[in-house]
Amino acid sequence: MSLDVASSLDKRMLIAGKWTDSENRTDVVHPYDGERIGSVPMATDVQVRDAVEAAEAAFDASTLSAYQRYELLEDTADRLEERAEEVAQVITGEQGKPIGEARTEVDRATQTLRLSAEQAKRMFGEYVPMDAQKGFAKDHCFTQREPLGVVAAITPFNFPLNLMVHKVGPALAAGNAVVGKPATNTPLSAILLFECLQDAVEDSPAPDGLVNVVTGSGSTVGDELLAHDAVEAISFTGSTGVGKYLAENSGMKELTLELGGNDPTIVWHDTDVEAAAEQVVGGACSNAGQVCNSVERVIVHESIEDELVDAMVDACRSLTIGDPFDEETDIAAMVDGDQFEDVVEIFEETIEQGATVECGGDYGGDLGDWVFEPTVLSGVTPEMPAAKEETFGPLVPVISVDSFDEAIEEANNTNYGLEAGLFTQDIDRAKRAADAINAGGVNINTVSGFRADHMPYGGFKDSGVGKEGIKYAVEHFSREKLVGFHQG
Ligand code: NAD
Repeated sequence: MSLDVASSLDKRMLIAGKWTDSENRTDVVHPYDGERIGSVPMATDVQVRDAVEAAEAAFDASTLSAYQRYELLEDTADRLEERAEEVAQVITGEQGKPIGEARTEVDRATQTLRLSAEQAKRMFGEYVPMDAQKGFAKDHCFTQREPLGVVAAITPFNFPLNLMVHKVGPALAAGNAVVGKPATNTPLSAILLFECLQDAVEDSPAPDGLVNVVTGSGSTVGDELLAHDAVEAISFTGSTGVGKYLAENSGMKELTLELGGNDPTIVWHDTDVEAAAEQVVGGACSNAGQVCNSVERVIVHESIEDELVDAMVDACRSLTIGDPFDEETDIAAMVDGDQFEDVVEIFEETIEQGATVECGGDYGGDLGDWVFEPTVLSGVTPEMPAAKEETFGPLVPVISVDSFDEAIEEANNTNYGLEAGLFTQDIDRAKRAADAINAGGVNINTVSGFRADHMPYGGFKDSGVGKEGIKYAVEHFSREKLVGFHQG
C-alpha cells in the first residue's frame, strides 16, 4: 500500500501570508521503502528573519479579542478535521508510524486546537487584596495576562503534527504571533496544519504574518531565532543536546524545553501481571518506540520476573510488523537510518555485555531497511546501554530488583526525569513512589507513556524545563502585569 494523497507534497514555507520557495530544497522520504514523497525549501537566514519580522508586524497590528482568537482556533480545528484522512496519510508517509496511530495523532491535534481555543477565553489575572498590608487599605491592585509577542515553535520528528499544535495552539490562544519550525525529515504534516491556520487567518480579522512556518536546517533556523531580538519565546521539543544548546544561547528569551527521557515503569508483585505486560509492551513499542515518554526500562520484583517476561514475549509476538499503510500493522520502520543505527548499536552492545534476548532481536534485511523487531531483553543491569541511554526504538529491557527501595533507586538512576509508571495495588506504595521518583509525572497503574493533551507535561533534570498542556503553555506564552491604583 502507499500514500493516497491527490495533491502535490512539494510544499513551500509560509512567510508574511505568502507561500514562499527557496533556492535549495530537501526531499522527504517514506521511511518504510525510502521512496521520495515530497520536498520542502531549505530556509535561508534572511528568510527566517523575514518570518520573524512578519510575525512581529502582525503581532503589533493584531487587534484580535479573546473571543476572536477562540474562533480562529476553532475554525482551524474544523479545517483540520475536514482534512483528517489526508493529514494522517501524510504523517504515515513522512514519519512511518502505522496509519491507525497517525489517525489518532490527527484526532488528538484537533482536540488540542479546541482545548487551546477554550483557553483563549481564560486568560485570567487576579485581584490583589491590598489591605492585607498595613497602610495600603485604600489602594487597589490587580494583574492582567498579556501575550509575549513572537513565539518560535521548534518540533521533533516523532509527533510532527500534534507537537506543533501543542505550541502554536496555546501561543495563539494567548495572543502571540508564531514562527513554526518542524523537523527536517517530517515537515509536511506541519505545513498542512499551517495551511489550515492560514486559511482560518484569511477568513478572520487577523493580519497576515500571524502564523509563519519555515523549513530546513535546524541549526540555520535555530541560530537566527536565537539571534533575533523580536523572538520573545522559544518553545522546543527534541533532543537534550539541542535543548542545552538553546538554553546556553537564549539570553533573556522565555524557554520551554521538552527533551529526552529514559522513563522507568515499575511492575510490582501485587499487580495483575498479564495486564501490566500488555500495557508495558504497548508503551514501549508504539511508533516503533520513538516516543519521548515510552517505556524505556521495566523494573520488576524478582518474584514475578519470569511471569512478566513470558507475558511480555506473548504481547510482543502478537504485534504485526510491516507496511505502515496496512491497517493491520503495529510496528513499521524507524524514521531514518541514523535512528535505526543508534538502536542497533545499543542492542548489540547490551547483548555483548550479557543481556538475554527473550524475543525479537532481528532487524533490517527482509524485515525492511530500518525495521527493528519488538525485543524483550532480560538480565539487564543498570550499566548496560539499553538501561542507561534513551533508546528510541522497540527495545524493552527488564531489570530485576528485590526491594521497593531498590526499585525507586533504580527508577531515579538516570540523568533524565520525564515520566514514570508504577503497577501496584498498594496505595501506600503508590504514594511512596509518587513522592520519591524524580520525574515530571508519576503514573500509577499505567505506564510512563500516559498522556492526555491538557495534562501538565514536562520533565525534570535533563528532560527539560517548563510545562506543556494547554493551560500551562498559555501561562508560559504570556506574562503577568500588575496594575495598581493609589488612592491618596
Ligand atoms: P532533534 O533535537 O534532533 O530535533 C528537534 C528539532 O530541533 C528539529 O526541528 C530540528 O531541526 C531542530 N534543531 C536541530 N538543531 C537545532 C539547533 N541547533 N537549533 C534549533 N533547532 C535545532 O530531535 P529529534 O531527533 O527530532 O527528536 C527526538 C528527540 O526528541 C528525543 O530525544 C525525544 O525524547 C525528544 N522528544 C521529547 C518530547 C517531550 O515532550 N519531552 C516529545 C517528543 C520527542
